[in-house]
Formats: sequence, structure tokens, C-alpha cells
Amino acid sequence: MKVKTRQNRITRRQQFQLFLSIMATFAILFLTLGIIIFNLFQSSTYRSIDSDIKSQVASVKKQPTLQKKTQDGPHGPDTSNEKNNRQPDPQAPFQASILVFSSSGKLLNKTSLGNRYSVLKHIKLNKKNINKKQTLTIKKMSFRALLIKVSKTNNNPMYAGNYVLIMQNIDTQIQAVNNFQKILIITFFIFWIIALILSYVLTRISMFPIIKSWKQQSEFVNDAAHELRTPLTIIQGKLEYMLTKPHKTIIDEAESISVSLDEVNRLNSLTNNLLILARSDQATTKMDYKITTPEFFLKDPIMPFKEIINSQNKVFQVNIHHKNDVKLNVDRDKIKQVLIILLDNATKYTPENGTIRIYDYIDGSKYQIIVSDTGIGISDTDKKKIFGRFYRVDKSRNHNSGGHGLGLAIAQQIINNHHGKIFVRSNLPTGSEFIFELPIKH
Ligand code: ADP
Repeated sequence: MKVKTRQNRITRRQQFQLFLSIMATFAILFLTLGIIIFNLFQSSTYRSIDSDIKSQVASVKKQPTLQKKTQDGPHGPDTSNEKNNRQPDPQAPFQASILVFSSSGKLLNKTSLGNRYSVLKHIKLNKKNINKKQTLTIKKMSFRALLIKVSKTNNNPMYAGNYVLIMQNIDTQIQAVNNFQKILIITFFIFWIIALILSYVLTRISMFPIIKSWKQQSEFVNDAAHELRTPLTIIQGKLEYMLTKPHKTIIDEAESISVSLDEVNRLNSLTNNLLILARSDQATTKMDYKITTPEFFLKDPIMPFKEIINSQNKVFQVNIHHKNDVKLNVDRDKIKQVLIILLDNATKYTPENGTIRIYDYIDGSKYQIIVSDTGIGISDTDKKKIFGRFYRVDKSRNHNSGGHGLGLAIAQQIINNHHGKIFVRSNLPTGSEFIFELPIKH
């Protein structure tokens, strides 16, 4: 019980660690993605503003020659100066403002700024920022700006030799960027939560087989250790007892020696079985598949059992009808091993005068071999468990009969490797029938 709680605790801790790492991975992914998307959006917004400013700069630098007086817009230079009359740039962005400063920093186009003057008058000429793109904030209004020095040869005398600050109001863009940022954060947060829920479910699903096999493995080791302990304790007891009688002869202690030898044999078969299971768990057992007919794997195990069963005053019936007419792709030795396990069990669990029968049957594309007995039978609850490792219906009885509860587990493992099926059903009125089926090769 303690071992189980500890295992559960470790499993939960592992699950939690896996969940945390998935959570962190998703967070990093979403954060990186968010930052990239946000930066792309922001830079594309600023790029379009900057290209507007650039076209403004070009239009300022290439002013057309003076033309007849036209009504200048708020973007244009000071209309109070007749010489300054010029065509407003048709390409000029709506939110653009142009501030013209003299070298001494005096604002020269106050009147053309109209009602914007109250805000823009706070801007001072900073010659250090010449040709540098900058973002200015004046009275909570944001502007993208570029200061240029216009050459003295410029056709527009208003600009010629002066400093021109081209500004574009970017409040709407900043608002859009902020809104986008908010939407991005909310969306990503929602998706992060969804990803977390999904990752939690996925963690559980993906961990399930690992936890299952891990539990099975540790249970297997526990059970194996337990099984090994019993014969070892008996052998130890017997040897210690014999040490207390140093003057006795081997004949005197024959019983102790034979009991110890039995236990050594049990240990031997147990370790062999454990090795078989461990190897097939790691898939290191080499299977030697060959196309064959049943007679090649039936004959060898059946013959010796005939003698054993008869010597125990039990009846053995063999009713094999398809030993030559079905083709199977099997590892003969492994199938022989299954037959030995089933025949051995049938013999072990069938009392004197009982009948053990082996027969075959073709069920569609499957070839079935059935080992039936009129023995002690298996209850419905035990039928579900007997293929489990170390499962024995009557543990005390089985210690004497030599079983460790591994035979059927090995048989199942072998049949599974052959893509077949093994199961048990009752043999009415008494006993059990073990059926294993293998796919027929056409
Ligand atoms: P064991 O080596 O103990 O026989 P198995 O894995 O072969 O181990 O069998 C598991 C258990 O299934 C046995 O301990 C026994 O209780 C039960 N069992 C197996 N075959 C039969 C059978 N033919 N009749 C009754 N019980 C059986």
C-alpha cells in the first residue's frame, strides 16, 4: 500500500513537471509569436507613416517654381508672405504639418498652421535631430517627425535656406497599435489557457501508457522479488538446519537436501520464465517466423503429454483435423511452448479420471487450437485475471504444484507477437477450455 502511494506521488510529480514544461513552452511560443506579430504590425504602421513623410520631404525639396497666387492650406507655408504662395502637395497626407524654422529657431509659418498653432508652437528647433526620424509628443498628441535643412537654391523662398520640420500626427496609428496590442494580449491569453487545458489533457493521455507500463514494470519486479524470496528462504532454512547437524550423513538429511533441490529447480524455472518475459518486454526476443502447417508444432508437445497424462490415470484425446491443410506464419518453437503451457496446466488442474482434449477449428481466417479439460474450472472473475503475471487462483496449492503464475502470461505474450488471440472459456459441465487462434496465411 505504501509502495503504491509512493508510486502515485512520483507519477503525479512527473505529470506535474511535464505539464509545467508544456505550459512554459506554450508561454514562450505565444510570447515570441505575439512579440513578432506586434513588432511587424508596429513597424509596418510606422513604415507607412515614414514613407508619407519621405514623400513630403521630396515634395519640399523639389518645390515647383513660383506660380500664381493660390489659397494655401493649413499644411502650406505662411500665406502672409506673397512670395510664399505655392501649390499644396496633392500627395500630402491629411494629418501632415510642416513647420518652417529660420536658422535662429524662429517659426516662420505660424499663420498657415491655423488652429494647430496653439499645439505646435511648443516645438522648438533642435538642429541635432536633423535628418533623424523622431517621435514627438506634444500636449498628449503624438507626431512622427523629420527635420531637414532645405538648400538655399530651393525654388520656394519660404523653405530656401531654412529648417523644415515635417510632422505627421500619429494618434490614430498609436491608437490602432494600442488596440492591436490589447487584442493580441487578450487573444493570446485566451489561446494560452486553451493550450494549457489541451496540454493537460494531452499530458494525461500521453502519460497514461507510460504510467501503465511503468506501474506494470515495478509491480513485476516486486512480484518477482517476492517469488524469489520464498524458495530462497526455504533453502536458507534447510542449509542452516543442516549446519547445526555437522555429524549427520547425507542419507540422514536426504529430505532437507531434496526439498532444497526442489526449490532450486523452482528457482531455475522461475528465473527462466522471468527472463522470457523481460526479453519479450524489451522486444529483444528474436522470432523465427516460418510458413508452416500445424503438424510441425503439434507433434512434439503432444507425444510426451500422452504418456504423462495416461500415467496419471487421465484420458487424453487428440482431435486435430487440419494439421496439414492450413498454412500459418509462426515461430514453431514458441507455439510449442504455448502448447506445453496449456497442456501442462490442463494436466495439473485436472483430477484423476478426468479428460484432457486437444482439437482444432477453423473460424473464418483464423485457425484455432483448443486445449480443454474436465478439471477444477475457473471462475468468471479469475478468467479475466489468469493471463496476468504472477496471478494464481489458489496460491497455496500452486506453490506445491510448482506454478508461479507466469505460464499463461508467457503464452499470451507469444500469441500477441503472432497477432493472434488467446482466451479461456468454461468447458461444460466442468473444466476449462483454452483457445488460441492464429491468422491463416493464404
Ligand atoms: P501456473 O504456473 O501457476 O499454472 P499459469 O499462468 O499457467 O501459472 O496459470 C495461472 C493460474 O490460472 C493458475 O495458477 C491456475 O490457478 C489457473 N489455471 C490455469 N490453467 C488452468 C486450468 N486448465 N484449469 C484450472 N485453472 C487453471
